Amino acid sequence: MEKLNNYLVPDYYGDFHCKMGACRNACCEGWPITLPLKDYYKLLGAEVSGELRIKLDCALHLVERPTNEEYAQILPRYDGRCPMRMDDGRCALHCELGEDALSDVCRLYPRGVRSGEIRECSCANSCEAVVEMLMERNDKIVFRSVPLKLKAPVQGERKHYFETAGCEMEIRMHLISVLQDRSRKLTDRIALLGMTLKHLSEALKASDHEWVEKILKNEETIEIPFSAHPAHEDLMRGLEIANQMLRLLDEKSESIRAYGTQALDAFGSGEHEFTVYSRRKEIFEKAFPNWEIWFEHMLVNHMFFVQFPFQDRPVNLCDEYLALLSVYMLLRFLLIGNAENDREKAADVASAVFRLVEHTEFDCLAAPMLKRICMNDYENAIRLLSL
Ligand code: SF4
Repeated sequence: MEKLNNYLVPDYYGDFHCKMGACRNACCEGWPITLPLKDYYKLLGAEVSGELRIKLDCALHLVERPTNEEYAQILPRYDGRCPMRMDDGRCALHCELGEDALSDVCRLYPRGVRSGEIRECSCANSCEAVVEMLMERNDKIVFRSVPLKLKAPVQGERKHYFETAGCEMEIRMHLISVLQDRSRKLTDRIALLGMTLKHLSEALKASDHEWVEKILKNEETIEIPFSAHPAHEDLMRGLEIANQMLRLLDEKSESIRAYGTQALDAFGSGEHEFTVYSRRKEIFEKAFPNWEIWFEHMLVNHMFFVQFPFQDRPVNLCDEYLALLSVYMLLRFLLIGNAENDREKAADVASAVFRLVEHTEFDCLAAPMLKRICMNDYENAIRLLSL
């Protein structure tokens, strides 16, 4: 029986409900479900109905190089759908054998459970119900410690550690507060987030804890290198960078390809591109007058979900920022290129962007890609905020 433990969660956590059969882009579609050795043998020997036995025997396959953690997979059907998914959206395995028969990913998604010094849990933006919930909310996301009974997945040993001056969570929450400071435009906040992280990174590298403290208390003046009224060439350069990045990402990603092609086709190229882009931007901002708040929620939720900027990988803090900037660019570019006045379509585009971000090496690709396109010029990259 699971013990009650305190978890730091975003205040929407208790309101999350899976849309089941009503979900347009179900998470049980499009990829194989990987199982550890113990779950594989549990399913092989489980007492189930004849119909489910046939489905299991057809769907269960060993992976190419089996390990204890990744031993077998439930392969999707010809149409990409998980063979366990029933027409009403429920899972046949769950219905017949209960939650414990499910792999961690099926049991928990879209929840991300982190069992570090502070236990954390939040929901992924790649889930359609999550981005729709965030689209409808106005108040800033607040993080609270609540008791939860959760069977946390076995988590591997952390591999990458950062100097955090012993205040990792304070730094993360400070960066989130920069993004939630609605006294500034969202683009100014994202620019300020970048500069704050640059200062923090220097202070941490110098192990200057006093300096870190000063930044966390907003006692350090940090200028943002970004004009509130970007010049025409900034916009053109921003469009050019976004265009190049999208073409590169399109090659790598199923989930955004259709939206990417639609946006690139819609904008065209050259001077024409800028005019069309500006017109579509107006349509998008008129149709979604609260777009800044929605973006704020999605970026804040993403930062908490991935433990920004201290993810478990060998990427420095400034590159983590460029990865976040790329997420903003993708959201903005694809929504302006696709959403028009359609809230469902907007939610589909947003959750597709986060499927790319959360389920691929996007974050590790984005910063080097952006640096290459922007010739390692930070000012250049920041032009993406003029989009
Ligand atoms: S994507 Fe979200 S809403 Fe859709 S089936 Fe999965 S958990 Fe449910």
